[in-house]
Amino acid sequence: MIADNDRNGSTNGRRRASKASQKKVPKYSAFSLLKHGVGSTEWPRAWRNHEMRPSYDVVIVGGGVHGLATAYYLAANHGIRNVAVLDKGYLGGGGSGRNTAILRSNYLTPEGVRFYDRSLELYRHLAADLNFNVMFSRRGHLTLAHNDSSLRTMRWRAEVNKHVGVDSEVIDPSQVKELVPHLDTSESTRYPILGALYHPPGGIIRHDAVVWGYARAADAHGVHLHQKTEVTGIDVAGRSDSGARIDTAGRSDSGARIDTAGRVVGVQTNRGRIAAPIVVNCTAGWSSTISDMAGVRTPIQTFPLQAAVTEPVRPFLHAVVVSGTLHVYVSQTDRGELVFGASVDPFTSYSMRGSLEFVEGLAGHVLELMPALSKVRLLRQWAGLCDMTPDYSPIMGETPVEGFYVDVGWGTYGFKAGPVSGEAMAEAIATGRTPEIIEAFGLDRFSKGELVGEKGAAAVGH
Ligand SMILES: Cc1cc2nc3c(=O)[nH]c(=O)nc-3n(C[C@H](O)[C@H](O)[C@H](O)COP(=O)(O)OP(=O)(O)OC[C@H]3O[C@@H](n4cnc5c(N)ncnc54)[C@H](O)[C@@H]3O)c2cc1C
Repeated sequence: MIADNDRNGSTNGRRRASKASQKKVPKYSAFSLLKHGVGSTEWPRAWRNHEMRPSYDVVIVGGGVHGLATAYYLAANHGIRNVAVLDKGYLGGGGSGRNTAILRSNYLTPEGVRFYDRSLELYRHLAADLNFNVMFSRRGHLTLAHNDSSLRTMRWRAEVNKHVGVDSEVIDPSQVKELVPHLDTSESTRYPILGALYHPPGGIIRHDAVVWGYARAADAHGVHLHQKTEVTGIDVAGRSDSGARIDTAGRSDSGARIDTAGRVVGVQTNRGRIAAPIVVNCTAGWSSTISDMAGVRTPIQTFPLQAAVTEPVRPFLHAVVVSGTLHVYVSQTDRGELVFGASVDPFTSYSMRGSLEFVEGLAGHVLELMPALSKVRLLRQWAGLCDMTPDYSPIMGETPVEGFYVDVGWGTYGFKAGPVSGEAMAEAIATGRTPEIIEAFGLDRFSKGELVGEKGAAAVGH
């Protein structure tokens, strides 16, 4: 928790400096577009480069949607502006700039549905809140069922969704065909479509715009964004057994009990040390390396996840279509490109290279769903890293090391959770209390055996 007199800096002088560092941001509007067009004036940079301070109230590691949203809501909702976001590369260079930008809230557990639904709610107003066109397109989301057990899970999800007030229903193959006429719904396919979970609020968004919008708005509130700044160590003071990692039951790797896990006092970076009483790990695919630096053990493994995009074609696909059985999903962007994805590669790795094997398998499965696409050419493919937890739910909040927070375990589904995570993490840091909406996602659920199983709703349909 940050005490009131520490907000915006811990002395009056720093508070004034911090207020002064808030930027008057020119509004993006039709009028300013006209003004810049007519006057041929340069648009100001979206965010500034600052000198690195020797200390901050909060240091956030990772400049993806989670780190930037946390910084933005700390400043905007709680007035905590003496905040730095550090990224070893560039903002959005991790999963936030590599994902396929599917938004939905039709999860399996009530905790998951409520959480992702709050994110969709924030996404709906994000363009206005950030004054940045994030191109949210609500177009409906279909998860196909090709066998009885999938159909059963769809029914289960639909009931949980409705119970929590989220619009989802199971529809039959003729209704699926009406929504997506190009799908092969005949009974002669290898895996005939038996029905689908239809979720009208689902859709897609422009992922870069979300990252840039949060970065610009955080900068305007006085947050410092430091790119090319790699965290190489985390300083923890007062640890009774330094060097060992600690799990949520307070035990080290060897099983010995550690009485005092210590508290965070700063981070080491390739540009020098920064003192900070609060450090937040928002590094997704790299998150276990950062948690390790603080001596905190998390049950996370990192897997590559690949995706691909075709040349643009005339708009014909108005919903997002996911098939868990065929391990594939398809959507069409506003520019007409078809975006394809699948489940994670079947091995742990930090490699972000695409493979021929992936596109071959992907193309075969896409054609089973939509044979009419056989002449469409793939333009490019890429990969990102996913930090997978055993129950396919995130890990959020405090850790045994005081002041060291995690917002990790985002796997293949974390982009949609950026706004709600930022909002909840900011509240947790500012108040010292865990907001109810993330209570179920604490690190201690693994030692308590209280998993939030979302595999049935998150393995392929990100
Ligand atoms: C191909 C693909 C498709 C996906 N599709 C979807 C989807 O459709 N919908 C959805 O909701 N999710 C999807 N995801 C998942 C989603 O992209 C991630 O869960 C989400 O972007 C995680 O955001 P983040 O801000 O936590 O992390 P990231 O955006 O990964 O940012 C982490 C940052 O930490 C930085 N970093 C790492 N180590 C250090 C260090 N030592 N020091 C400083 N900085 C460091 C990295 O440079 C990186 O920029 C997809 C992922 C991939 C790869």
